[in-house]
Amino acid sequence: VRVEDKLFYNRYLVDAGRAHIKVKPHTTPPAALLNMLTLCPARCYELNEAGQVEVTVDGCVECGTCRIVAEPSGAIEWTYPRGGYGVLFKFG
Ligand code: SF4
Repeated sequence: VRVEDKLFYNRYLVDAGRAHIKVKPHTTPPAALLNMLTLCPARCYELNEAGQVEVTVDGCVECGTCRIVAEPSGAIEWTYPRGGYGVLFKFG
């Protein structure tokens, strides 16, 4: 079974306007952010047309990988979603 097929069974409650992960503004992405393009299991990190890394937290499974890889260098800000929001695994 592909990872994408498994992720399909998760549900998310989006906390509109309060993303729990924020990418620090940059012109050229630091290595820690570029690594997240391949390390995030939910593929939340993408390159935009300007070559900057963006994150979309709607599919985040809160695995913490980017918290370990990118937060220590200050490339992102990472917090858990507020209670009741974020990924819901009970359907998976
Ligand atoms: Fe991706 Fe995990 Fe970071 Fe969420 S916590 S954005 S799933 S690497």
